[in-house]
Amino acid sequence: MLDKKSFRKEAHKLVDWMADFYENIENLPVKSLSKPGEIINQLPKNPPAKGESFDQVFKDFESIILPGMTQWQSPKFHAYFPANSSYPSVLGEMLTATLGAQCMIWETSPAAAELEELMINWLKPLMNIPAEWTGCIQDTASTATLAAMISAREKKSNWSINQSGFDNQKLKFYCSAETHSSIDKAVKILGAGVENLVKVEVDESLAIIPSSLESAIKSDIENGFIPCAVVAAVGTTGTLAIDPVDAIGDICKKYDVWLHIDAAYAGTALMLPEYHSMITGIAKADSFVFNPHKWMFTNFDCTVYFIKDEEALIKTFEILPEYLKTSTRGQVKDYRDWGVPLGRRFRALKLWFVIRDFGIEGIQTRLREHMSYAKWFANQVNENQHFELVIEPKLNVVCFRIIGSEKNEEQLDELNAKLVAAINNSGEAYLTHTKVKGKYALRMVIGQTYVQQHHVEESWQLIQDKANELL
Ligand SMILES: *Cc1c(COP(=O)(O)O)cnc(C)c1O
Repeated sequence: MLDKKSFRKEAHKLVDWMADFYENIENLPVKSLSKPGEIINQLPKNPPAKGESFDQVFKDFESIILPGMTQWQSPKFHAYFPANSSYPSVLGEMLTATLGAQCMIWETSPAAAELEELMINWLKPLMNIPAEWTGCIQDTASTATLAAMISAREKKSNWSINQSGFDNQKLKFYCSAETHSSIDKAVKILGAGVENLVKVEVDESLAIIPSSLESAIKSDIENGFIPCAVVAAVGTTGTLAIDPVDAIGDICKKYDVWLHIDAAYAGTALMLPEYHSMITGIAKADSFVFNPHKWMFTNFDCTVYFIKDEEALIKTFEILPEYLKTSTRGQVKDYRDWGVPLGRRFRALKLWFVIRDFGIEGIQTRLREHMSYAKWFANQVNENQHFELVIEPKLNVVCFRIIGSEKNEEQLDELNAKLVAAINNSGEAYLTHTKVKGKYALRMVIGQTYVQQHHVEESWQLIQDKANELL
């Protein structure tokens, strides 16, 4: 068993290992090449009765666990959206684990609550979120969105559903078919049912058509339903389509419907003033979520949730068992009342470390670099006769596909699926796919914290090589 003395020794060794790991990460396969069952079958079926040496445990970590890990911090990780980390973030997380605090209320760690409040205050003006809003840090965008939609449900029902359950209220929720699956999940959990989630029609850029939204709301009202909330995506997961917040906001105001903005990924771009136009009209919205744990260099998990009506949120989630009654209640922020979980990690610490270490300008420079690499990549695709862009690239995401002469759409889908597999099985880069207007497309996301132009050039060369082998 580790003790005071051996903890110090092993911790020093681990830090060296961590630094080496980051230095050599490019030599590891980006997507784990592990086969199903391969990891579990190498490990004992039962836990040890007696403690083992840390040395032995760590050896197994290196030889068995590590090969089964996909390297999300590799600069050639271009899949999904990034789950970025960074040096200051890792150091912050080490301290969070060391303190091991459970930050459910102010009294269980005043600094955690107040630093969380400060992070919200720092981010609001930078991202052009209205000054009167407040916010908190949550674990994931899925949970924050759920909290927003339940708050909308309660506000709409005058808190009667919390109290007495559903009484045949037929609430309707709205988003586009491009919106993240967490919205579907939320309507299931909050009791409205997926049948009452209306998927609104989108335009050429895959953004919600406001007039279609209004028609849907009107017809639902005529049919006896109660429109409750709209979720607008600022940056859909597939292609970063941006729903028109301003026009949607007007409709939500007109029909007294909650507007939640899901900017889980693209929200980070609001750190750049030139992208504030993505959320023109934000003052008409009610809540907004984005994930520093995606593009803002803060390791998973760290979700920022901004809210206009703090009282509505707290009234929805408030609980007050005897053991949580404190004398400071009312003077401080007790974040257990701001969402689903009671227990809370000290997530503000790593975010604070990142912002102070990078500086706002450092964050902005890096984001602009990522977007310039994506622009370069999109140009390469555009100029190459074997490839095409399937939709106009946004921020640092490029959706494209290989095109072979005399192939029908079905054959092209197959060819592109083969291309993705060939790239990922090489271990040299990792990207995933999406469907854009029915077409199978590759999705190149250039956003890992330490990615540089040469990595993107190498990945592009790999893509061409694999394509040539298939054509
Ligand atoms: C990633 C993503 C989510 C889900 O984020 P989690 O933090 O994993 O719950 C929701 N919406 C959008 C648009 C996303 O890109």
